[in-house]
Amino acid sequence: MKRIYEPLAYGERPIRDRYWDSTIAGPGIEYPALEGETSCEFAIIGGGYTGLSAALTLADNGADVVLLDAKYPGWGASGRNGGLVSVGSAKVDDEHVIRKYGETDARVFFDAERASVDLVEDYLVRFALDVDRHSRGYTYVAHRPGMEDALRAYGEEYSSRYGLPYEFVPGEEMAGHGLKSPDFHAAVHLPIGFALNPMKFVLGLTRQAEKAGVRMFSNTAVSEISQGGGHVLKTPRGVVRAKKLLIATNGYSSDDLPRAFAGRYLPVQSNILVTRPMSDDEIGKQGWWSRQMVCDTRTLLHYFRLLPDNRMLLGLRGSVRVTEANIAATEAKARADFERMFPEWRHVETEHFWSGLICMTRNLVPFAGPVPGLENAWAALGYHGGGVTMAPYAGALIADMALGFSRRPHPDLMKRPLRRFELGPWRRASLPLAFSWYNLKDNL
Ligand SMILES: Cc1cc2nc3c(=O)[nH]c(=O)nc-3n(C[C@H](O)[C@H](O)[C@H](O)COP(=O)(O)OP(=O)(O)OC[C@H]3O[C@@H](n4cnc5c(N)ncnc54)[C@H](O)[C@@H]3O)c2cc1C
Repeated sequence: MKRIYEPLAYGERPIRDRYWDSTIAGPGIEYPALEGETSCEFAIIGGGYTGLSAALTLADNGADVVLLDAKYPGWGASGRNGGLVSVGSAKVDDEHVIRKYGETDARVFFDAERASVDLVEDYLVRFALDVDRHSRGYTYVAHRPGMEDALRAYGEEYSSRYGLPYEFVPGEEMAGHGLKSPDFHAAVHLPIGFALNPMKFVLGLTRQAEKAGVRMFSNTAVSEISQGGGHVLKTPRGVVRAKKLLIATNGYSSDDLPRAFAGRYLPVQSNILVTRPMSDDEIGKQGWWSRQMVCDTRTLLHYFRLLPDNRMLLGLRGSVRVTEANIAATEAKARADFERMFPEWRHVETEHFWSGLICMTRNLVPFAGPVPGLENAWAALGYHGGGVTMAPYAGALIADMALGFSRRPHPDLMKRPLRRFELGPWRRASLPLAFSWYNLKDNL
């Protein structure tokens, strides 16, 4: 597999200290590796939210499905994210989407975003998944003074887009909402979304897919896709022959699988710090007791939430390499940001720090469509860090396409062939410059 990060990114080190492991009983769900040859109607590569949701959608329609993961279901971003469920899977704002793709298709995209939140909700209800849910919609906080008008305008736009009210919180009322921090100066509560435990969600989907009859294989990395009476997938100790193929590898994709995507997706690291649980007294001292999930207005944004057991979870982007030195430097940066945001918690230790790869596209919007040059093959990827919500939906979209259905909002902009990043195989080299520029902008 031709992957663009250091080997450390594709091993266990980045998730060695992940908090979510301590919230479940026992290890994740492993399946046997594929040995020998098997055939099926639909093969899925990748067992995160995208692949599992595609598998469930196919199995619901009585299809014969095989799902292969290089490690095990939930090993990728789906088992290591911040658990924020909300609209926002594009890298650009709504105005840009309208300008670039036109009002009509943009409207379908916004409908898809809304439907993606509903689909997560539907999975939770349908499968009775207990995922430690909290937060009513999400809260967007201004990282500098003087942004009130911009936040209000954002709330207005959101409100007219989704037909739902927003609530503006001026700086002087932040403390009354449990949002007291010297780093944040106003807020807007937006009504769509909630937070969940991402590992409980992915394990729940995995169990349901298994129950629905999906044949699952762990430690079964597909190293080659060739053609011969359908798709022939080569794995370390076996071969899968499938009539139709769905690719769901997102930030863990490889440049040679399929070749059509070489240079056309860009994995980016996202990192999470989780503190020890805090006492009610400590929570009160800082004055941050809101259970809302929160994002700030920085381009290199922070996402954070007070977890049900009173730990603070803080996520951030902005590191380029996956090496021991880099992991340590990013943890130090996360800690410095945490202490600046919550000075009364300077003494509260970090207990967990981990990271993983999200995926960007050059189109700056997610992709869920046919794989160019491969018949009967579809892929979904590129949720720009919004995949807890969009990945299950995009998985369902490509499953629908493979079944020949069109039954949910599916904008053309998500089916457009992925554009190539200008630097192709060296595209990661563009990140330091981008991060420096975003950092400068955020601190102006
Ligand atoms: C630290 C972090 C925090 C995040 N926080 C949030 C958040 O709060 N809210 C939000 O909406 N999104 C968040 N995201 C993004 C979200 O987690 C992802 O967009 C989503 O999980 C992607 O799901 P996926 O199924 O497409 O890919 P993944 O879950 O990454 O799964 C891909 C799978 O493909 C497998 N694979 C790859 N290549 C092969 C191969 N050749 N053969 C077989 N298997 C293969 C991998 O082993 C992996 O299991 C976060 C991501 C990270 C890393």
